[in-house]
Amino acid sequence: MDASASSSEGGESNSAAAWKQFVSTGRGPWQEVPAEQWEDWRWQLKHRVTSLEQLERLLPTLTPEERAGTILANRKLALGITPYFFNLIDPADENCPIRRQVVPRIEETVTAPWERTDPCGEEAHSPVPGLVHRYPDRVLFLVTDRCAAYCRYCTRSRMVSNASGYDFHPQFEQQIEYIRKHPEVRDVLLSGGDPLLLSDEKLNELLGALRAIPHVEFLRIGTRIPIFLPQRITSSLCSVLRRYHPLFISIHTNHPRELTLESRGALERLADAGIPLGNQSVLLRHVNDDPEVMRVLVQKLLMCRVRPYYLYQCDLIAGSAHLRTSVRRGLEIMRQLRGYTTGYAVPTYVIDAPGGGGKVPISPDYVIQHTPERVLLRNYKGECYEYPEMPEEFSSVVAPESRCATEWAG
Ligand SMILES: *Cc1c(COP(=O)(O)O)cnc(C)c1O
Repeated sequence: MDASASSSEGGESNSAAAWKQFVSTGRGPWQEVPAEQWEDWRWQLKHRVTSLEQLERLLPTLTPEERAGTILANRKLALGITPYFFNLIDPADENCPIRRQVVPRIEETVTAPWERTDPCGEEAHSPVPGLVHRYPDRVLFLVTDRCAAYCRYCTRSRMVSNASGYDFHPQFEQQIEYIRKHPEVRDVLLSGGDPLLLSDEKLNELLGALRAIPHVEFLRIGTRIPIFLPQRITSSLCSVLRRYHPLFISIHTNHPRELTLESRGALERLADAGIPLGNQSVLLRHVNDDPEVMRVLVQKLLMCRVRPYYLYQCDLIAGSAHLRTSVRRGLEIMRQLRGYTTGYAVPTYVIDAPGGGGKVPISPDYVIQHTPERVLLRNYKGECYEYPEMPEEFSSVVAPESRCATEWAG
């Protein structure tokens, strides 16, 4: 690996201080490649690591679990890593948090009884192919089945990467027509696959068609491109995106080392185009299931002008048990964020309810007791405080059901 990657105070590369640094990993094993090719996103895509042969050559410490996983798991979800992202892997560390996200392991072929190929029941809420309409006012619009690189815990691995032969041919016409006919849809979230893999022209067309629908107020894109392929965030892409405001982007980052000089540059270009940026993380075992890693991550995101949005409990996707962490641990991480750092840095921890219930927020308990007379609170340090409750005849905001619940409790 390039020397610049491991240079930090004290030569200690596995500490909070080192994770906080913005570094460039350099070209690593691709030293010979001229800079203009390395910085070209099409070159990066074309030269992705996709085979066992490449992996063995580039990662001499490949373990038997990873070798077997690459042979077998690859049939369910393709192996794909951009050279840029590959260089973030620490070859000396078998448990490297970057490596665990993208290098297949044999455990992926083991399916626990509660695991599913469609853990969030998306197919059941799909009125037309490639559209998920679960919530009253918004839809998930699947744009492509390809990503720049493949996360081994992908919640949509059933249809992504084309490794398992899923027949995904989104018909934008049909998807757009559904939205046009449903005036309640005021919010469209483009996802996939990664929407930013489409050409500037195709994105321009798609966003233009959605913007032309009067009741669509708000557009969003979910993408991991700024992390896997920051070279894709060109000035011409930004000038396409900025024509369709209000447009938000949610990125996906799990470990602070993914925030490099290159990804910070890409995020800066997006933010300068006026795009509000959020981040979604997935809680992953030996990647970010640690309060210190998560604190550095969320603080580093703010330095990139990205607001942490959601922290997901890992979906029950088939073959993900080795990457899953307990909800108890997730709650403990949340408890160690709230109050210890700014609220801007604290995401909402959610479980996407198995079977299709949608995202359910979960939080450590800060309300110890709630009676008609008072609310007993616990602050972030565990100290208790009391706040008087309003008599109910003054609080017209209480919904009929919850008023009923208070009466019962009383
Ligand atoms: C996550 C999700 C959304 C967006 O939810 P927000 O809370 O608005 O970010 C919309 N539709 C589906 C099916 C989703 O899973």
